[in-house]
Amino acid sequence: MSNNSDSDSPWQVQIDELRRELALMRTELASLRSSPRTSLKLHNRCPSCQGTSVLHCNEIRDYNNDNSHSPMSIQLMGVLRKRTIGSFEAYICRQCEFVEWYLKGAADIVPGKLDKRNRKNIRIVDSETPKDGPFR
Ligand SMILES: [Zn+2]
Repeated sequence: MSNNSDSDSPWQVQIDELRRELALMRTELASLRSSPRTSLKLHNRCPSCQGTSVLHCNEIRDYNNDNSHSPMSIQLMGVLRKRTIGSFEAYICRQCEFVEWYLKGAADIVPGKLDKRNRKNIRIVDSETPKDGPFR
């Protein structure tokens, strides 16, 4: 004979099952929070497919009008000649073709000191709370 206690009720069975699922999700979330994202550059492991075969392009060659080449970089408008700042490099996953781009010298770039065109396109975005906009 069943005593029909709360522990046997269909609701209690469902609640227990949901508690187990919630505990599993908490464990998975804690694991995701504690493990940093993988990087082709830092870990030789693709964050997209976990592949471990990586191409490193220390310099991306960019062709000039005179058929010469120079490293791909940020182009600055100079008075007499073209100037550049920074130099792009890339790490590419050979399995899924995911690309990580880096700009060597990024820490030295001050947007306010760039030419007019680049000042409009390049800005520093940091993690501080915006002073205006919808997230005030
Ligand atoms: Zn990949």
